[in-house]
Amino acid sequence: MSKIILKPGREAMLLRFHPWIFSGAIKSVEGEPSSGETVDVISSDGRWLGRGAYSPQSQIRIRMWSFEKGEDISGLFFRKRFERAKKAREELYICVRTSAYRMVSSEADGLPGLIVDKYADYLVCQFLSAGAEYWKGEIVRQLEELFPVLGIYERSDADVRLKEGLESVKGVLSGKMPPKLLDIHEDSVKYKVDIINGHKTGFYLDQRDNRAFITEYAEKKDILNCFSYTGGFALRALKSGATHVTNIDTSEECLDLARKNAEFNRFDIDAMENITGDAFYVLRSLRDQARQFDIVVLDPPKFVTSVKQMMSGTRGYKDINLLGMKLLKPGGILFTFSCSGLLEESLFQKIVADAAVDARRDVQIIRYLGQAADHPVALNFPESRYLKGMACRVW
Ligand code: SAH
Repeated sequence: MSKIILKPGREAMLLRFHPWIFSGAIKSVEGEPSSGETVDVISSDGRWLGRGAYSPQSQIRIRMWSFEKGEDISGLFFRKRFERAKKAREELYICVRTSAYRMVSSEADGLPGLIVDKYADYLVCQFLSAGAEYWKGEIVRQLEELFPVLGIYERSDADVRLKEGLESVKGVLSGKMPPKLLDIHEDSVKYKVDIINGHKTGFYLDQRDNRAFITEYAEKKDILNCFSYTGGFALRALKSGATHVTNIDTSEECLDLARKNAEFNRFDIDAMENITGDAFYVLRSLRDQARQFDIVVLDPPKFVTSVKQMMSGTRGYKDINLLGMKLLKPGGILFTFSCSGLLEESLFQKIVADAAVDARRDVQIIRYLGQAADHPVALNFPESRYLKGMACRVW
């Protein structure tokens, strides 16, 4: 097995079991590891630190698989990790409330670069690192054995693969091709999910708890659901007695599916209005029309995708939060989110506070929100907490 020798002092993060080694921390490579091959990692004074996957093209040169002396990276290794992840989900009783949840959450489940989502009778996988790609065959074999599903589908068409020197791929890995639209449920709300072409693996599973939380407030309310996707928040609100929901999204396709979802649940179709357009403009135009809502949901895509984008990203968050607050009736509720991992929660709160100052509104945080429990946050990998949000009462 090839060996990676670290520069002096660069083992500190590994001793805290952080799974990433950046290229700048490496002194030398003994051997010629190929992309994704398993390597031993050794400190500058010769101590064995762990075992990881080598990624020659990525800035994150190694992603650690194991810190256990003598643990082989093999089918059994993946099997044990999968069993642990499965047990954790079963004990959360998520499977009782929904038929769609994240089974394996990458670094947070000790499997860097591997996502496995379960949608009813199908698994959908993303292989996002050289190491996960290298072990794909074995991973699929183990999944087949552990999860009796109709099919395993690959959605490795995420941009992050390019950084690993991997092409974008999707298709059936095992069993049957999933249907064009697959039915899932969250509590008593049904959704149709497009696994093949939808965002991520088809649905924003991480927002499940927050979608459930809105039900406590939605009855008899007029709601603005900004960045709607396929109506995730809208449907939960309508089920709980909201009088009207206005969805905004740039994607007409997503909004069409939101409408289909409303029909699927037999909701009054007039209770849902869909506006196709850029939220930054649509929110301004609603403000100019003096529209007012009881609840505003802001669940934008990642505005900060790199450190370079921090300034423009924070401006984006401030802008929509300012507009969102202006569109709320006094005492209304703002559900505001950021899924930018690089944006710290405290900074996000500060941005929302700045928006409140500019909007001249008195705002109370009534609940801090985050990703659902099937997207755990590993203490050794704080980066795994990426979704944060707040429910705010806006006076
Ligand atoms: N709340 C949703 C997920 C939102 S994902 C749920 O619970 O399922 C973010 C959505 O924002 C995507 O559907 C994307 O199409 C949309 N989007 C991205 N940029 C946008 C913009 N500038 N204006 C409006 N919608 C946008």
